Amino acid sequence: MRIGAHVDPTDPLAEAAIRTADAVQFFLSDPQGWKAPQPREDVDRLRASDVDVYVHAPYVVNVATLNNRIRIPSRKLLLGHATAATEIGARGLIVHGGHVNAGDDLAKGFDNWRKTFAYAAEQGGFGVPVLIENTAGGDNACARKLDALARLWDALDGYDVGFCLDTCHAHAGGEELLDLVDRVKAVTGRIDLIHANNSKDAFDSGRDRHDNLADGTIDPELLVALIRAADAPVIVETPGGADGQGADIAFLRQHLGGTSA
Ligand SMILES: [Zn+2]
Repeated sequence: MRIGAHVDPTDPLAEAAIRTADAVQFFLSDPQGWKAPQPREDVDRLRASDVDVYVHAPYVVNVATLNNRIRIPSRKLLLGHATAATEIGARGLIVHGGHVNAGDDLAKGFDNWRKTFAYAAEQGGFGVPVLIENTAGGDNACARKLDALARLWDALDGYDVGFCLDTCHAHAGGEELLDLVDRVKAVTGRIDLIHANNSKDAFDSGRDRHDNLADGTIDPELLVALIRAADAPVIVETPGGADGQGADIAFLRQHLGGTSA
């Protein structure tokens, strides 16, 4: 099983080496900004590396919203990131499920997702698997609860859509982790990537604060059982820099390596 971490984008391969990570995830631009990704000097090294590369789209991207001034640039920014991710040989582009504003019709949000994939197809396709990630908060989210996720997948029927399951977001979002892999796969048919994070906050709190795997409000054994069941590559997005994440990667290798959870 490939296990890695979300790292600083300056030199991801060096960050991977420090953590003995098999995979890295990073941003290609300021996650809170609208700037398009800039060409990287380490393209050849990233492509040639044994380390698997994943790109996380900026947090500002919300292709679901009914607000044109957010949705249209979000679509373009997502496609721009997909193109840049393809260039560096990334295995996936992770993007949050997004939401509509209070009072807006969630059905339109799902249809806006469909239009995003249609737009990308018109432009020649994303080029890299787009992995939609479940989110922790909000009452109008497209991918917080599984019932919403099912409607999203219906709307995207016919497109090749990947899924990234974040364990902190699921717990804080109010989905029980026990047997979650089966319930997710019943909706999406696949789990392409696990974001393995514990949560500083309570079940269904709607809050998104990651914790190290052996800490937090989720039983670490439950986390391990979920990750084993998912049988997908794992990225930790946990605090503590190289030490904290390195310990989390070691924790997973130790517990997933054995025969009993
Ligand atoms: Zn995540």
